[in-house]
Amino acid sequence: MLQRRKFLQMGSLGMGGLFANKIFASGNSGIAKKPLVISTWDAGIAANKGAWEILKTGGRAFDAVEKGVMVTEESINCCVGLGGNPDREGIVTLDACIMDEYGNAGSVLALERIKHPISVARRVLEKTPHVYLVGDGAQMFALQQGFTLEPQKLSDEAAKEYKKWLDKSEYKPQINIEQKQGNLQDKGQIVAAPNRLSNGAFNHDTIGMLAIDANGNLSGSCTTSGMAFKMRGRVGDSPIIGAGLFVDNEVGAAVSTGLGEEVIKVCVTHLVVELMRQGYSPENACKEAVRRIVKHNGEKKSKEIQVGFLALNKKGEYGAYCIQSGFSFAVCNSDSHNELIASKHMI
Ligand code: ASP
Repeated sequence: MLQRRKFLQMGSLGMGGLFANKIFASGNSGIAKKPLVISTWDAGIAANKGAWEILKTGGRAFDAVEKGVMVTEESINCCVGLGGNPDREGIVTLDACIMDEYGNAGSVLALERIKHPISVARRVLEKTPHVYLVGDGAQMFALQQGFTLEPQKLSDEAAKEYKKWLDKSEYKPQINIEQKQGNLQDKGQIVAAPNRLSNGAFNHDTIGMLAIDANGNLSGSCTTSGMAFKMRGRVGDSPIIGAGLFVDNEVGAAVSTGLGEEVIKVCVTHLVVELMRQGYSPENACKEAVRRIVKHNGEKKSKEIQVGFLALNKKGEYGAYCIQSGFSFAVCNSDSHNELIASKHMI
């Protein structure tokens, strides 16, 4: 956590010529043999390992994307899950969603005191006729399904951060523009080691994961504690189907991270999958989605916003794009190949 975000400033300025280039449907997305799992940020390395255990034995991508992000949800070194930052009332609320190869979706929003929101989202998909369950209803459903109520308690790190925030109690939603780190600056560069903060924690609130299994089926998951010190009741993009995550097994899948409000406004992951359907590479589809957000916000405001998108197509090609440097993703397709890659960026 610690200084990991800059303040968001609202405003709408005209778009400069800098971002006006048309993006064509060709690109240099990574290609890897199936099965394959990719996920957002540094914590993706450990999450991929969890998913790989399932994929390497011929398991289903859907199982892999649940198991993979569960690793992150329970990690004490991560802001995802119950260890994450609370809302402005001091309560941790969690959002998660999951999609399978049949186009089914399950999602929980503003869920409290449950360790694995992704597994509750999976139960929504499997056991209810619904897609979204929210707040108390989501928690009641989780308990009915046998999940345990965890204590209402902040992690030590989150308690420290919250106390600091309370000093001013300013409501300026913050976004995750990364601390400038030399080894993450170059476009497409492979990063040797996960980037951590000085306290050893990973500095992101969200993990998104996409996988293709040995049968060529796609699935995806996304789980988050959301924006730090958000208004009570605020929900970002992460659990919203078509914004935080979208999977179409005929075409591809996409997942997003960053300032959720901007992602929701352009239904980013649905857009990315539809662009891939039209022939865009995963990377160029993500780039076009970034371009639309930059166009909407204008050049000046865009410099203070971060969003990052990750996509995987039916051929096992993958790619990513973000507004500014700092977004990374992890790619795994064998016991020995699990690497962190710096996403290309627009600014
Ligand atoms: N997208 C998440 C949200 O807006 C935050 C994040 O990706 O870190 O809630």
